[in-house]
Amino acid sequence: MTAPWTATVLTLFPEMFPGPLGHSLAGQASERGLWRLETVDIRRFARDKHRSVDDTPFGGGPGMVLRPDVVDAAIAGTEAPGPLILLSPRGKPLDQGRVRELASGPGVRLLCGRFEGVDERVIEANRIEELSLGDFVLSGGEPAAVVLIDACVRLLPGVIGKDASLEEESFTGGLLEYPQYTRPQDWQGRRVPEILVSGHHEKVRQWRKAEAEAATRERRPDLWKQYLARLRGQ
Ligand code: SAH
Repeated sequence: MTAPWTATVLTLFPEMFPGPLGHSLAGQASERGLWRLETVDIRRFARDKHRSVDDTPFGGGPGMVLRPDVVDAAIAGTEAPGPLILLSPRGKPLDQGRVRELASGPGVRLLCGRFEGVDERVIEANRIEELSLGDFVLSGGEPAAVVLIDACVRLLPGVIGKDASLEEESFTGGLLEYPQYTRPQDWQGRRVPEILVSGHHEKVRQWRKAEAEAATRERRPDLWKQYLARLRGQ
């Protein structure tokens, strides 16, 4: 049997894992052997007697920076499949396209920053790809790693029962998803749109497409522009 998709996380806080990844969809998928999680404690690679992993920034300023020698030793000492990625607010924004690519490979190796971040030289020397979750600052890369892994794992073959639910969801066709409704049909006087209970599949499909387009146009003009450009290019 080939090795399952593997997420290897280099972190100062291995005890933060699996966290949410041990539950529900991702947790069950890992129990079924569909993916694997490995953590590597960066502090194991500290060499001085205080086991220090960080130091003050050259040029001054607040906080501490992860040392390049320690981080490099942790990278070199870890054999694992997949591209090496640093979670960083300075990275390229993560999107569903990149998630799909990562999920279709052998796995990911994720480096989690802490404090003020990681010495730039170790990023350059190892040609580390930098990915960001968005334009905000977290206190560490661990929650971002959990998010990235979660997004990949749900795309792995066999993890979600019905592949159709992956085909229709947000971003797949360049649009946000249409709104969803369930029972009760009448809740506090708010009724589910009639068309959804009509049993008319083609009309439901058209309504959902129109709703997906309207939501994308109103909420995400950036995605809407790309969507229109793609339609015109066809
Ligand atoms: N001083 C840095 C922020 C460091 S935050 C700056 O201003 O750019 C500490 C760590 O949290 C980072 O090294 C990174 O691993 C993680 N992190 C913070 N915000 C993030 C984001 N938006 N996406 C991914 N990782 C993030």
